[in-house]
Amino acid sequence: MAVQFRCSDVGVACRHVTRAETPEALVAAVAEHAKARHGVTLNDTLVDYAVTKVRPARE
Ligand SMILES: [Zn+2]
Repeated sequence: MAVQFRCSDVGVACRHVTRAETPEALVAAVAEHAKARHGVTLNDTLVDYAVTKVRPARE
């Protein structure tokens, strides 16, 4: 099941939507995006919060 994460769902002013095939890959991709675009390194707390905002991807 593909999944997606929107920065805007966690209150970040960013229109980026990260998509991946698995939640694990998604978290890794979101962490990469957060570091590259927002200068934020996801710690365990932020990862746990981000996971609650993961949604099934709709085509
Ligand atoms: Zn973003």
